[in-house]
This record gives sequence, C-alpha cells and structure tokens, in this order.
Amino acid sequence: MTANAPVIIKLLASSVSVAARAGKIVRDVMSKGELGIVEKGKDDYQTEADRSAQRCIIASLSAQFPKLNIIGEEDSLDNEADISSDWIVAEKDQEIMSLECPQNLNSIKEEDIVVWVDPLDGTSEYTQGFLEHVTVLIGISVNERPVAGVIHQPYYKTTVGGEKKIGRTIWGLQEVGVGGFTPAPPPDSLIITTTRSHSNPTVEKALQAMNASQILRVGGAGYKVLQLLEGVASVYVFASSGCKKWDTCAPEAILNAAGGKLTDILGNFYKYGASESRPNKTGVLAAVNSELHNQALSKIPQELQDKLSNK
Ligand code: AMP
Ligand code: MG
Ligand code: MG
Repeated sequence: MTANAPVIIKLLASSVSVAARAGKIVRDVMSKGELGIVEKGKDDYQTEADRSAQRCIIASLSAQFPKLNIIGEEDSLDNEADISSDWIVAEKDQEIMSLECPQNLNSIKEEDIVVWVDPLDGTSEYTQGFLEHVTVLIGISVNERPVAGVIHQPYYKTTVGGEKKIGRTIWGLQEVGVGGFTPAPPPDSLIITTTRSHSNPTVEKALQAMNASQILRVGGAGYKVLQLLEGVASVYVFASSGCKKWDTCAPEAILNAAGGKLTDILGNFYKYGASESRPNKTGVLAAVNSELHNQALSKIPQELQDKLSNK
C-alpha cells in the first residue's frame, strides 16, 4: 500500500518528517552558540543552521526521490559534503500517507516536480533572537504552480497531555486541505503583516495606502502566512523585490489549500518552474480569501505597481 502511494503523497509525507529534523538542527546550532554568520549580500545572511538544515533536507529528499529537481536557497553549498548520517531522514509522516491524492496529481512523476527549499526562513530574526518568527519551508510545485507544502516552526511551544513539546509542522495539499494547526477566520479589522527587517520607502508607501487598523512587523514569509491562517492578520503586504521563490512556494501552497491567495502586488501569480528567476520581483500580496486579497489589491497605488514592474 505505502509503496504504491502516489509520488506527491510520499514526497509530502517525507517533507513533513524531514522538516522537523531540520528544525532540530536549527535549534541545536543556536544552543551551541556558534552561528557561523556569512553575509551573502546587503541585509542577507546565512548561518550554520541555514547550511546544515539545507544539507539535511536535500540529502534526505534526494536519497528517496533521486529524480526530483530540488532548489535550495543556499546555492553555494556542496550538498554532498559533511552529511552526518543522523541527518538523513527516511521516515514518512503516517497522517500524510493516509491522505487521498487529488486526481490530477495521482500520476505525477518525480521528474515533473520542482521542490523549493528555504531551510531557515527569517535568518535576520534568528540571529537577533526573535526565534518564534523562524520557519523551515519545503514547497512542492507541479506545472509551475505550488501544489503542496510544509511550514515547520522549530520554536513553537505546546503542552500535549501535560508534556512540553517544541516544534510544530503545518502542511497543505491542493484540494485536500491543511493540517498541523487550527485555522481561524481573519480579524474583524484590517491588520496587515509585513517585513520587520527589509523595509524601504516603497514598502512603507504601500503600507500607508492600506489604511490599516494595525501593522505587524515580523520576520519571514512562512511566519507571516501562518499569521494569516491563524487569524492574527488579514493581509500580507510586501511591495519589494526581496522575497524569493523558496520563500513563497510552501506558504502559497498551504494558503491555497486553505482557500487563500498569494500573488505579486499587481495581482499576478508567480510561476515555480525550475528555470524561473529566483526573486519575486513584483512583491507579495496574500490573504486567506479572495475578497480580502481583492480589497488590498485595489488599494495598491498604480505608481508602486509600475515602479516594481519596471525595476
Ligand atoms: P522578511 O519579511 O523581511 O522576513 O522577508 C521574507 C523573506 O524574503 C526572507 O527570507 C528574507 O530574507 C527575504 N527578503 C526580503 N527582502 C529581502 C532583501 N531586501 N534582501 C534579502 N532578502 C530579502
Ligand atoms: Mg526566506
Ligand atoms: Mg532562508
């Protein structure tokens, strides 16, 4: 039965399991205190946790699915090197294995899938101690669109049956739905969530135009989309080209599976084929339903849309 499960189901089940292992690596690097920070570009950092978590995810997924096209954020890594054997995860989450695959994904083959990996979303926040903003993102795309995804929160704390637990894994699958958390309706007033560490004048102009009752500034695309899904914020607005495909693939897949929508600030969908350029050049606009998304889109000034399009 398990061996015959569709590739998408097996891949999502593996991704759920490996994301939790990557999350433990993220915690372990922090506990050790040797972050090994490298500056990749302006306001763009990489730590030992980003590097090790990506090695764990790519080595584990490619061992089980050798024909997958996996694109990780930390592209200068030698993914063959330095893989400790306890980083190779072979388990598959059993809840996911029991899901029914949507018809249109039933016969998708490994080589038709592109996986976008952000081993640690919210690196700035990680280095500054805002640990609850940090997520591990694994996005699965087919025919250029996100169809399934995993957001793991390494520092999410819960108590289950009197026992303290750390880490939580949220998943979504097209037409099937979402799991790992309890979805909540959006707030009654307009609450915007946006970047904490990558703002600029264009980002701020778009925020002003929203006329929101509150603006939340938090790290990571994964964490902001979780705020939408859990009813903490109404819309995610980021009028800048700083986000990349690995930031939005998993969050978009989960948001879609929950009935939401993620586009650029012109209202166009991003494509997730392997040859697409990495930056989400025309920004991010996301909400848990089309109505909220449309309302926000209609408030974005044309001038800002033109500015990002022509960059
Ligand atoms: P933020 O909302 O600032 O946490 O950004 C979401 C994701 O996009 C994170 O992975 C950031 O690293 C990335 N990002 C956003 N803006 C920039 C930027 N100006 N330079 C580099 N990465 C960025
Ligand atoms: Mg990121
Ligand atoms: Mg990252």
